[in-house]
Amino acid sequence: NWARICGRLQTEVGEVEYRTWLRQMTLGPVDHDEITLYLPTRFLRDWVRSQYGDRLGTMWNGEIAEIRRVELMLAPDARANPPMPVAPAMSPVLGAPVAPVAAMRAVAAAAPAVAEPRGDLAAPLDPRFSFEAFVVGKPNEFAYACARRVAERPSSPGFNPLFLYGGVGLGKTHLMHAIGLELTRPARPQGAVSVAYMSAEKFMYRFIAAIRSQSTMEFKEQLRSVDVLMIDDLQFLIGKDNTQEEFFHTFNALVDAGKQIVVSADKSPSDLSGLEDRLRTRLGCGMVADLHATTFELRISILEAKALASGVAVPPKVLEFLAHKITTNVRELEGALNRMIAHANLFGRSVTLDATQEVLHDILKAHDRRVTIEEIQRKVSEHWNIRLTDMSSARRARAVARPRQVAMYLAKQLTSRSLPEIGRKFGNRDHTTVMHAVSRVTELMERDTAFAEDVELLRRMLES
Ligand code: ADP
Ligand code: MG
Repeated sequence: NWARICGRLQTEVGEVEYRTWLRQMTLGPVDHDEITLYLPTRFLRDWVRSQYGDRLGTMWNGEIAEIRRVELMLAPDARANPPMPVAPAMSPVLGAPVAPVAAMRAVAAAAPAVAEPRGDLAAPLDPRFSFEAFVVGKPNEFAYACARRVAERPSSPGFNPLFLYGGVGLGKTHLMHAIGLELTRPARPQGAVSVAYMSAEKFMYRFIAAIRSQSTMEFKEQLRSVDVLMIDDLQFLIGKDNTQEEFFHTFNALVDAGKQIVVSADKSPSDLSGLEDRLRTRLGCGMVADLHATTFELRISILEAKALASGVAVPPKVLEFLAHKITTNVRELEGALNRMIAHANLFGRSVTLDATQEVLHDILKAHDRRVTIEEIQRKVSEHWNIRLTDMSSARRARAVARPRQVAMYLAKQLTSRSLPEIGRKFGNRDHTTVMHAVSRVTELMERDTAFAEDVELLRRMLES
């Protein structure tokens, strides 16, 4: 049970957070309906209690129904260790553990493992993530336009806050850096403005470090003195109530002072359940722009741009192959291409399809969708409410012929089967019939957005 709980915690809160706060937790005695968990320091105990207490309770209860209470205690052997002299009290202002001055100094001097070195307020901006390096296509053009707009005229009504959301590796961080780079350009006609960019995780660590070194006022002042504040991956603050609270106040102070806020998350404000309602409401007040999943065309354009910049000749066939294989995450797509480029540079060999398949064997295997044609046929017939047998029947009525064509199209897209092989699975049809189906569906998708959405939805269901 314990191992399972640890595993679940790890997946729920993420690797970094788990390592920082929860890894040192050990299992104590179980007594009827109560279980005790040990932590090595008072600070950790209090932090875990305030941030994860409820969740731990629910988890244990889900694991062993009798358990109704989870007690977090200082490990009995902790006293044998060098003392961690924090005696926290709840600060009425911050609602977070605050210790007496002397104790706090001692902690700072001891430099405990969870401490975050204090440095500049913001993380540096990556010069590679410029607007120029961002490839624009249908799925991201709106988000791109909003980001451009904010970089041109920050704090315009209607664009504050700018909330960017979308799946992993679709360009949220890239766009935020681009905004920051543009605004801090020394040659900017309106003059450079001060920009602070940081991940929500960093925000939390900074906040905690400030509490521990009793410099929260300084932290707040620093934050509130910037013209543009950008917080990346806000979903990290889910369940971190104290940090959320602090962010909410910072947010309000900045917006009231006419400063620009840019935030990113993996979901829209309304779908970020676990964030406080009032925060979600305020986040949705400005401009909300989503980065949609990439299309094949966009992936090709991105690969072309990156190949061109590398100076290595990559044949279109290889780009197409990669764009077909790696569909969800631009970072991985880029990584695959970079590996091929590095390979070409190191060994002086040209990039070919064969070499790509060989060099990227492991990556490609992980992206093998392993969808079967039978699965596709089943999902498609369910979706349009036709009989599965009609996938291979001779009926030509539109109501069955169209879904059949979609299934052939998806079979071509999602499996590595050849046209003749696909044809055989659809009642021994000819490969030209499959080819025709593919081009027909492609054409229809361009003309009919509702139809295109249906097909995309099916694709996503099959891929997941
Ligand atoms: P996210 O923050 O949404 O997870 P990132 O912004 O970190 O994604 O993007 C992942 C990688 O993919 C980065 O290297 C980024 O430069 C690249 N990337 C994503 N979208 C594009 C795009 N439209 N054009 C060029 N590069 C992109
Ligand atoms: Mg990111």
